[in-house]
Amino acid sequence: MKVEDFPCEFKKAIPIIKRLRQAGFVAYFVGGSVRNFLLGQEIHDIDIATSAYPAEIKEIFPRTVDVGIEHGTVMVLYKGRSYEVTTFRTESAYQDYRRPDSVIFVRTLEEDLKRRDFTINALAMDSNGKIIDLFAGKADLQGKVIRAAGDSNERFHEDALRMMRAFRFASQLGFRIEDTTYQAIQANVSLLEKISMERIQAEFIKLMLGKFRNKGLRIFIETKAFLHVPCLQQKSFDLKKLLQLPDDTLHTSSQVWALLGYFLAFSQVDFHKFLREWKEAKAVFREAFLMLELLKKRKHSEWTNELLFQAGLDIALLTEELVQLIWRRGDNEKIKKQFAKLPITSRSEIAVSGNDLQKELNRKPGEWLGIMIAQIEQAILQRKLKNEYQAIIEFARSEGEHDKGR
Ligand code: ATP
Ligand code: MG
Repeated sequence: MKVEDFPCEFKKAIPIIKRLRQAGFVAYFVGGSVRNFLLGQEIHDIDIATSAYPAEIKEIFPRTVDVGIEHGTVMVLYKGRSYEVTTFRTESAYQDYRRPDSVIFVRTLEEDLKRRDFTINALAMDSNGKIIDLFAGKADLQGKVIRAAGDSNERFHEDALRMMRAFRFASQLGFRIEDTTYQAIQANVSLLEKISMERIQAEFIKLMLGKFRNKGLRIFIETKAFLHVPCLQQKSFDLKKLLQLPDDTLHTSSQVWALLGYFLAFSQVDFHKFLREWKEAKAVFREAFLMLELLKKRKHSEWTNELLFQAGLDIALLTEELVQLIWRRGDNEKIKKQFAKLPITSRSEIAVSGNDLQKELNRKPGEWLGIMIAQIEQAILQRKLKNEYQAIIEFARSEGEHDKGR
């Protein structure tokens, strides 16, 4: 590989490697960027591994951020981009099948590559485009195989998360898992219970967002991994139903949760528990709940103005993607047009404020105000009421009279 043929992401990072070399260290591109580059796929982030220790890295580069200095990672800011530069390290002291708390810095690339999970992730490339391939990872890229680097049993014992990572790479790349590695997963899958839910969740979401979701999900089910994560033990049948969906790519975690909520037929309470135990962030949690509610409504009806208003355009479009995935119907363009014609798209657009209503109706604030605003909002959305000050006040007065009469 000639440097001129490098993708621009690598070209821009070459000065970082050169500076480390000028200071007497060695440095290489490693991890997902090398893998994706060899696959001709998009490169997300550039990871660099080096013999320099964190303090030495920080001396060389004027602008750095300590992102994981205890693991040897320093973020280097260079020409408007950021690069994770990590000291070569081994991880010898594994406890409880989890990644080690402490790492040992080493000075050679070879030792560093040996700690990496899969052959396809243990590739390195120098700044001249020379590939260092200790585990025949290039052949596995060609053969589309996920194979543990070294003894698979040992590797999953060291860090059981690697099993989830195998499923996730199967889903992202469409690769199969090599037989010995697969058998080691089957034998060790219960060790997933030792892993923090945050780490499992992150890999599971990547699995569900992968281009070959069904491939990853099938292995997740067939290896019985689902028995060792929260809330799925009783859901074997429902999980398998998901495999009948086409591979259309999902785009957000909230879509993943809403899809699962729908297929796994959780009650509201159980869905809540599910998201809590899977350690999902509150904002995503709320979005997933709303999306599931909309999805259930959308099963039997078209989008009404009220539903679109409640969803907002982004959530409506994401929900509609699920409608397309599950029922092979739905129309994004129609939603965009309908949304553009909504008389109001948020409560703040109502021509009358809460204060106005209190003054005009001469009433003290109270529960009535929220109810009244909801009624006004609904009437505007149903086009029974114009969004104009005087019209709304008249509507409010008559509704108010109505209430008194009841
Ligand atoms: P992505 O494109 O999703 O970033 P990636 O392969 O770069 O994929 P990361 O999670 O960013 O994945 O990890 C970077 C590299 O660090 C991996 O390619 C692998 O070499 C190594 N790695 C990450 N997690 C582990 C682990 N649990 N055990 C061993 N090696 C790991
Ligand atoms: Mg990465």
